Amino acid sequence: MKISLIVPCYNEENSLLLFYNELNNVSKDMSDYDFEMIFIDDGSSDKTLSILKDIAKDDSRVTYISFSKNFGKEAAMYAGFCNCTGDYAAVMDADMQDPPSLLPQMVDILKSGEYDSVATRRVSRKGEPRIRSFFANTFYKIMKKCSKVEIVSGARDFRLMRREMVDAIVSMCEGNRFSKGIFGWIGFKTYWLPFENVERVAGKSKWSFGKLFSYSLNGIFSFSSSPLKIPVYLGIILSLISFVPFGFMLYNAINYGFSMAINGVSDNLILFTLLLVGGLILLSIGIIGQYISRTYDEVKGRPHYIIAQTNKENVVKR
Ligand code: UDP
Ligand code: MG
Repeated sequence: MKISLIVPCYNEENSLLLFYNELNNVSKDMSDYDFEMIFIDDGSSDKTLSILKDIAKDDSRVTYISFSKNFGKEAAMYAGFCNCTGDYAAVMDADMQDPPSLLPQMVDILKSGEYDSVATRRVSRKGEPRIRSFFANTFYKIMKKCSKVEIVSGARDFRLMRREMVDAIVSMCEGNRFSKGIFGWIGFKTYWLPFENVERVAGKSKWSFGKLFSYSLNGIFSFSSSPLKIPVYLGIILSLISFVPFGFMLYNAINYGFSMAINGVSDNLILFTLLLVGGLILLSIGIIGQYISRTYDEVKGRPHYIIAQTNKENVVKR
């Protein structure tokens, strides 16, 4: 049995060696298994790539794939899935937030044959800024309401899965990738392993608030078309409301004559209505625009990533 570990790395020079050593120790305790470690250098500007080259020189299990620029964690994970050859595969953060020490337990659960994947879930968000937890929780609530795909709150991308599941992920070739949604969409039986949140050993999180915000919007737009109902409902509601002033006008015209029917509305009300309706129209166009721009991205069919250097033969490019 072979286990593939996929590790996206973006400017991880400070945590990479610690992580590799820990992984190495864990793999020694699991001598029944062969290991393959695929490190994806996602266009790092620090010493990440040279550290990876050093590691790969002394350890034949290590593959590195270096991107021509920063394509994002999703692209890095996809490159890993496309290039892994193990019977089992898992994605792990290079910062030890996905503890390698959980691996033996995960393998045991998978080996029992009852499950197709073992996924990890943080039971707390200890150590995370409050505002970030708040937005994360709100996102999961919205996602639950508007998408049929099950996305578990606190789920990490760290999950060990069987080959069948990896092949299913590789077959999902969309450009706007949202892995938590993809894992949920493809199905399979998943065992959820809870663990206490671990803070990264070194360096800083690569996710700014803006990046996370657009990533979560991507999640919603990629796995739900519910937002498209908003313009429809808004249209129905506003059309119905429009009958109220029309009714008043008709009433005045009948009782007091035509000239009374066309005056009597304050300028402020007209201005308010104009701005409100204008805003709602722009919102609706914006929502439709999100889907169109995503369709445009997909239609272009650009590669998910471009590889500048690797030590792997026959590397798969997508
Ligand atoms: N990462 C990446 N490309 C990016 C951003 C992050 O490959 O553009 C990697 C990063 O090196 C790490 C993992 O993805 O191994 C998760 O990133 P990070 O730890 O910054 O995210 P957090 O754990 O704070 O959500
Ligand atoms: Mg992390």
